[in-house]
Amino acid sequence: MFNSRIMERKDFIKKSVWGSLVAYVAGSFNNKVSAINRLATSNYRGVEGVLSPTNTHMVGNGFQVMNYFPNGKGFQERMSPFFLLDFNAEVNFPPSELSRGVGVHPHRGIETITFAYKGGVEHHDSKGNHGIINKGDIQWMTAGGGVLHKEYHEKNFDKNGGAFEMVQLWINLPKKHKMTPAKYQSIPHQTKPKHTLDGNMGVVHVVAGEYQGVKGIASTFSPVHMYDMHLNPGADFKFHLPAGYNSGILVVDGDINVNGHDAPENHYVQLKNEAGDIHIKASNKTTLLVLSGEPLNEPFVGYGPFVMNTEAEIHQAIEDYNQGKFGFLQD
Ligand code: MN
Repeated sequence: MFNSRIMERKDFIKKSVWGSLVAYVAGSFNNKVSAINRLATSNYRGVEGVLSPTNTHMVGNGFQVMNYFPNGKGFQERMSPFFLLDFNAEVNFPPSELSRGVGVHPHRGIETITFAYKGGVEHHDSKGNHGIINKGDIQWMTAGGGVLHKEYHEKNFDKNGGAFEMVQLWINLPKKHKMTPAKYQSIPHQTKPKHTLDGNMGVVHVVAGEYQGVKGIASTFSPVHMYDMHLNPGADFKFHLPAGYNSGILVVDGDINVNGHDAPENHYVQLKNEAGDIHIKASNKTTLLVLSGEPLNEPFVGYGPFVMNTEAEIHQAIEDYNQGKFGFLQD
């Protein structure tokens, strides 16, 4: 999604009520090495912070999102390779004759992944890809060297209105894959490989990476684990993620306790980079998005819809876009 607020974001962080939390997490990043070196005093992976939902802003006229990875290098390095997490928590859209969403805009250097939890989203891009996602479906677009796309509410959803809930996640591409050809992976919910938790506790749908030997469906350009977890009331289980991977959990619906920390609906749990059990308890029907990735450890420059390694590459992206090298897409 095009985020024109990106350059104002430093001010946003200063003014934001949760700025102190962000500063806290960024500060913890500086202590990461000592945390990794420290001998684990328990078998539990530490919780670095539980971020509260923040103010929302509109992206286009179709997405009312909270941003959990505010700009400013601290957090984006902290969650590398994940670069942006926009969450449209459940809202009700009235019926509309107008189509609502975000018009044609470019991307380069990243992947944009859209998760539909409620409602429908339609995508078109300049490579000729087209997809509609509804409850549980994912569209995974690799912008790579450059693509134009537009993202709108699905037409019937526009007409009828209703509950709408979705996530858009950006994954930064490693330097060596920045200019890979654009591509599109359509991931209907029923195609996600799954692990069923014992005792009717729920299901872990494996989007990327691996869970208990079940391999995910999406291909990625750097090592990533990504789980769509649907838990039943009373779920109580443990799992692991690699100690050095930047890892977090978004509570989309319901509420959880993670290693003794309460995380209600619409909160985001940042885990420490250390080994240990991640012990989850859910008291209600709960949906989680679990993200874990190997940090890229490369310099990056983000400018609106482009994320590259140097400023010169950002200038090149703007020039290529202005010269029409990203292709054509009808608005
Ligand atoms: Mn976009």
